Amino acid sequence: MVRVLGERDERERIVSDFQDSALSWEILLEALPDGTAVLDEHGTMRHVNGVLAELTGYSREELVGRDVQMLVPARHRDTEHVARREHAQDPNTRLIWSDMDLSVLCRDGSELSVDFALSALAIEGKAWVVAAIRDNRAQRAAETAQAEVELRFRVAFEDNMAPMMFTDLDDRTIAVNDAFCRMVGYSRDELMGKDSRIFTHPDDVGITEETLRRVNSGEADQVQYVKRYLHKDGRVLVVEVSRSPALDAFGKTLYFVFSERDITEERALSAQLSHQALHDSLTGLANRALFEDRLAQAHAAVVRHGGLGAVLMLDLDDFKGVNDSYGHIVGDQLLVGIARRFEQVTRSMDSLCRFGGDEFLYLAQGLTSPEDAIRVASRLLGALAEPFFIAGASIEQRASVGVMVWDASSTETSQLIQDADVALYEAKRRGKGHHAVFTSSMRAKEENRFATIQELRHSVQSGDLEMHYQPIVELTTGDVVGFEALMRWHHHVRGWVPPSVFIPLAEMSGLILELGSFALRQAITTASSWTPTGAHSVAPFVTVNFSASQFHNPGLIAMIEEVLVESGFAAERLVIEITESSVLMDVTETVAVIAHLDRLGVGIALDDFGTGFSSLSYLVLLHPRFIKIDQSFVRPMSESVHNDTLLETIISLGEKLNMTMLAEGIETKAQLERLRLLGCELGQGFFFSPAVPDGEIATTLARVLGD
Ligand code: C2E
Ligand code: MG
Ligand code: MG
Repeated sequence: MVRVLGERDERERIVSDFQDSALSWEILLEALPDGTAVLDEHGTMRHVNGVLAELTGYSREELVGRDVQMLVPARHRDTEHVARREHAQDPNTRLIWSDMDLSVLCRDGSELSVDFALSALAIEGKAWVVAAIRDNRAQRAAETAQAEVELRFRVAFEDNMAPMMFTDLDDRTIAVNDAFCRMVGYSRDELMGKDSRIFTHPDDVGITEETLRRVNSGEADQVQYVKRYLHKDGRVLVVEVSRSPALDAFGKTLYFVFSERDITEERALSAQLSHQALHDSLTGLANRALFEDRLAQAHAAVVRHGGLGAVLMLDLDDFKGVNDSYGHIVGDQLLVGIARRFEQVTRSMDSLCRFGGDEFLYLAQGLTSPEDAIRVASRLLGALAEPFFIAGASIEQRASVGVMVWDASSTETSQLIQDADVALYEAKRRGKGHHAVFTSSMRAKEENRFATIQELRHSVQSGDLEMHYQPIVELTTGDVVGFEALMRWHHHVRGWVPPSVFIPLAEMSGLILELGSFALRQAITTASSWTPTGAHSVAPFVTVNFSASQFHNPGLIAMIEEVLVESGFAAERLVIEITESSVLMDVTETVAVIAHLDRLGVGIALDDFGTGFSSLSYLVLLHPRFIKIDQSFVRPMSESVHNDTLLETIISLGEKLNMTMLAEGIETKAQLERLRLLGCELGQGFFFSPAVPDGEIATTLARVLGD
């Protein structure tokens, strides 16, 4: 009690002292921005200022005369006590704690995070101290915010995968990230303070200067451009750069921010892809798409400035023969060789393209007359004059050219290519190694051809196609041993159209396969009803003509087998007629197909024999059942001694090779007698009968056999 009273007395004294001296202390303390208390050697607060009262929630009166530990959280009390005492021993120092987890205990029990400073104060020989606290919440929050900004910056800049750089107003580097250093191969130290010239391709330095000028002049806020860099190791890089100025609140540029992208590979890849998309992979020449584009440009130029241009379409003559005889690798090499030869005679303003397969297109520009285009055609054909030497073989390769000369009045560029194609068809028709210049009458012919093909397409279904049958006669006995099935087309306007007209069109349009299967089915159906004639025990055979593309069609064997199975027709009574040129298209394949047909029992007749150039070795190899001697050897018999000798030779050849000889086109009794004499076994011709429809076979037979 006494002690309590004593304490109270003491406090009253201090309070009154405080009030006495208040003026000087108060003026001093109140001037300070921090919450401040003057502590005596016991730690009792002798003076406090308003800021401290405000921070802690106490009134000044509640604080003065109390132990400062009332403001220290329990866990820090010992430390505080020791620190204060130690500090008081050394009055010359000032102790400041910031960046530490210090707090004061407020009146409401909450804690307030503060920075803390102690200054020793020697008063009347006693070790007093001045303690100051500063609310650091705002400061801490600002620091945290700053740290976050820095973190974000680090993620956005330092760790960014995209190369980034900051430069000052003179464009000297003030910061670069790792990605940038990696891209150019220079270290951060090597780049700092330097301008971009050290890694810029010498030819592109101007680009940087120009963009700086544009940004500085206010022409653009942000500029994007592509420029070349030189990597430290000497590699050229293509880089997409975007430069933006960092502005202060007044819109003044502080520095520049560069964000970049190395597009070297991307560029190379897209260049490669676009090259692939526009070029032929074998020859490297422009492809059709690129050619059409250049043609459109050339045409537009002619429309603007006048003049003439030409499209030339070149087709290699009998190129398939090269593939067949030497193989595709040699064929490919030949195409490349031809492309190089054509390139050598291509003028710089002209374009050359591989149109596909063995076709090339040439665009000639700046011509003054149609004769110029013909000169171009001759130059191209002349380029093939010398043989090609490939894989030890000397190969002669010629071409035909269709020429389309055009001016501003020609509207459709796609039509120009078609017209060159029409002219090419005409050039081919005139013979190999020629050129033909497009005329509108060719177009009419072409259109006519097109219309005919359309009609032919319908004729199969509409029943306008028929098979007629020409008897094949045993020359010694006069017996009919077989019939050749010949196709007839009855056109509603043009009447009977001969096969020499429509078969080539059917081949051109691919219709031939349909026609061929029709011919075979029809012939077999008809022949199924035939019965043996004369002394023969088997009914007559039927021969069916197959053109080259039919014979070399992969589905041929399957088709024949199917028709034979469906009809139950004896395979031995079926003979397929093929020509020498068809054999020559692919001799190895022909031999294989014939062997297969032979296994089925189906025979082969070599048609129009003597008109091609087949060698005797082929005859032995193919061993056809019949050799059909072309009518040209039969008809002028009496007129030429040479032909006579030829005929004799052919017939005796057949005998020696053990093949049956069949003479075509026998028109007169004299021809028949002569053939008999020479020992030709079979024959057909108008002398016996032309080809007749199914319904007339019986009467024809009766007449022929009756003769
Ligand atoms: P080819 O196979 O050599 O047929 C013989 C041609 O000579 C037939 O002409 C026939 O009518 C004709 N001919 C027959 N005897 C005589 C005669 O004594 N004197 C004269 N001057 N000619 C005679 P056609 O029917 O006009 O056929 C022409 C060619 O069309 C045929 O020649 C054949 O290559 C082809 N052909 C006919 N039918 C078909 C067919 O169904 N398919 C295929 N792919 N081609 C066919
Ligand atoms: Mg024939
Ligand atoms: Mg013939």
